[in-house]
Amino acid sequence: MKESHAVVSARGARRWQTGHPWIFRSDIVKPPAAPPGAVLTRDQQGRALGWALWSPASEISLRLLDRDPDAVIDGRWWHAQLQSAIARRLPLAGLTDSCRLVHGEGDGLPSLVVDRFDRWLVAQFLSAGVEAFREEIVEALHALTGAEGALARNDVSVRTREGLERTVEPLWGEVPQEVEVNEHGVRYFAAPHTGQKTGAFLDQRENRVLVGSVARGRALDVFSYHGSFALHLAQRAETVTAVDSSGPALARASENAVLNGRQNITLVEADAFDFLRAREAEGARYDTIVLDPPAFAKNKASLEGAVRGYKDINFRAMRLLAPGGLLYTASCSYHLSKTRFLDMLQDAAADSGRRMVLRAITGQPLDHPEVMTVPETGYLKGALLEASD
Ligand code: SAH
Repeated sequence: MKESHAVVSARGARRWQTGHPWIFRSDIVKPPAAPPGAVLTRDQQGRALGWALWSPASEISLRLLDRDPDAVIDGRWWHAQLQSAIARRLPLAGLTDSCRLVHGEGDGLPSLVVDRFDRWLVAQFLSAGVEAFREEIVEALHALTGAEGALARNDVSVRTREGLERTVEPLWGEVPQEVEVNEHGVRYFAAPHTGQKTGAFLDQRENRVLVGSVARGRALDVFSYHGSFALHLAQRAETVTAVDSSGPALARASENAVLNGRQNITLVEADAFDFLRAREAEGARYDTIVLDPPAFAKNKASLEGAVRGYKDINFRAMRLLAPGGLLYTASCSYHLSKTRFLDMLQDAAADSGRRMVLRAITGQPLDHPEVMTVPETGYLKGALLEASD
């Protein structure tokens, strides 16, 4: 008889015991005879371990949903889980109209991402298992948020590994091309259909506020994208130079400057490495610098080269600081650990000849929960440094 439950090895079972939701294909003793969806998972002694999302084509075969073998994974279950995830964001109410509502494994809802931009939602269904519950999830999100429209930004490469199509499609209503976001009093346009990630980088929201609160003098925002850091810097700094290699990103940064009535932001289309080197050669000085680069380390193999890249920009930024100047520097590479990030900054500081003081170490905001036992939920780290010489 065909069994619709999964049987996993002792090593697979141990993953759940140690707080990690993934069981890999190599730990599946008997795959379930079932299409993608929710399956009951048992150990080799026949003990029920709980319910998981089942992805037949993926290396990550099972993702834990519920440890209760009696749970029923239906529309009501999704509604309850999504309701708790949304409730976790309540402290952000009144501070911003846009945030991540579901951060996948970080919220116990594996392979599901949902971002809210004002009255619209953008979702990503990142596994075959979660794709099977699209209808239940969409219905619950609609009921819980009352959003006017929602979009699936399923155009990401992990979907290929799950045997899923890469598409962008509406879930309900109509999501505008541009959505105005309010983030702690600063406004900017997100681009849900075409922008990076789901339309904007929501994960740096509180870090922008932190840097904005200490910014002064001549400020520089390198890897500016839509100018979100620049807009916060411009509240206190005299002038802000926003640098990015993408013309379209800067065009949007320019619209955002107008939206906020800021006239002290200058946009420069340039390669960041070239720009920093040229300013250093000129002996330029800045009082506040932000470095928020894209992930240089896309995989483990590219880590060493990536560290050299991070060190290069940080070393140059440190040399560009005026006495007492501040550098906020970040990395969103999952493959660069927090420890390695701080080691890299220490090396850059040593080579720069500056006395760099560590003022703060930053991580992810509450709407991007980083679970200690699930390293994959954490990727963003940053540091605020001061040149005290
Ligand atoms: N700071 C932004 C996010 C930055 S995303 C925010 O808070 O929203 C990374 C940006 O780096 C993208 O806009 C990309 O166009 C830009 N970029 C990538 N490589 C670059 C390079 N070599 N020089 C300058 N900009 C670069």
